[in-house]
Amino acid sequence: SLVLVTGGNGFIAAHCIATLLRSGYKVRATVRSAEKGDSTRESLSAACVSVSDLGGLEFVVVPDPTDLQRLSSALQDCQAVLHLASAFNYDAVPAEFEEKLMMPALKGTQVVCEAAAQQSTVRRVVIMSSFASVYDASLGLQPGRVYTEEDWCPLTYEDGVNASAVPIAYRASKVVAERAAWDYVRDHQVNYQLVTLCPGMVFGKMIHPISSLSQLNASNQIVWGVLNAGRDGEIPPTKAPVWVDVEDLAEASMKVLSYPATSHDRFLVTQASYDTQEIADVVRAQLPDRHQAPLGEPGNRLAHTHYSCDSSKAQRVLGLKFKGLKESIVPLAEQLYDMAKL
Ligand code: NDP
Repeated sequence: SLVLVTGGNGFIAAHCIATLLRSGYKVRATVRSAEKGDSTRESLSAACVSVSDLGGLEFVVVPDPTDLQRLSSALQDCQAVLHLASAFNYDAVPAEFEEKLMMPALKGTQVVCEAAAQQSTVRRVVIMSSFASVYDASLGLQPGRVYTEEDWCPLTYEDGVNASAVPIAYRASKVVAERAAWDYVRDHQVNYQLVTLCPGMVFGKMIHPISSLSQLNASNQIVWGVLNAGRDGEIPPTKAPVWVDVEDLAEASMKVLSYPATSHDRFLVTQASYDTQEIADVVRAQLPDRHQAPLGEPGNRLAHTHYSCDSSKAQRVLGLKFKGLKESIVPLAEQLYDMAKL
């Protein structure tokens, strides 16, 4: 069957596309320019997606992801949509939060839900939400607290527009966008099932087009921050300490297209808690000659004094098995040190 993937040139999207193609799906991916489509095809090819699998991939240029008409025609003949396009960058300044974060996230999601309702072939709409839509950062560390799919971040649209800092605006954009999808299926008759995925920080080797470390996506920047802090440096603090490997998330994104859902559904997709000290410990042990990570206090796990989350539903219903931090971080570290010529 044919799946529309929005934001096809992104870090997670490239893995989703590769996983779908290798499993026999056809993929149509939206990008904001033809060049981004070409470079994504090239980097997927370099990442060993075979020529025959790549034959199942086409790109459509959708410069404005809130354009209902363009989205609706991009969805023609599709059985599902996997919505990943969303601004996840921390460059915006407060005056821009509404225009650069809130509106694109909210309208982009509403438009996907509406365009999918216009196409009778579409049976499933998967929205890449986030753990940001689940947890309440304002409550602090909350040791012992375990989040589940029942939990919702309380941030509103206004909280995002008036946020004092960009991470708050980003979290608000994710929860507002996810809520908009749930509101849409509550208020309209639709032929599809809505599935929202809430991953923690996503780490792992990159197979999307990226030519320099300055373009590193936000979550892998956390890993690079540790990897590149210098042997005499300090371990950066841990923020939002739950994570998942990008290939595992791609697997989850594919599995929700075909599992026997009877109603709309929501999944937490997280492996476990992590800690920046733990990332340093992994690279120091695994890449002893190459690493540029600080010593810190080996074995000290501050993440275990934070909240955690329960992803047993995703494991049970989707049969997911999650990679450990070492399996995810080491290939990424090698790739990043190669890029930095270290
Ligand atoms: P990337 O930054 O690698 O990719 C983002 C994609 O969204 C790109 O295709 C980008 O296109 C597109 N995009 C950016 N801004 C806009 C905009 N204003 N309107 C429309 N499209 C836009 O991000 P990730 O792969 O890391 O994230 C993909 C999705 O997963 C996002 O929805 C993100 O919120 C979510 N997520 C990510 C997590 C992570 O840790 N990485 C954790 C939880 C959720 P272009 O290149 O043209 O700018």
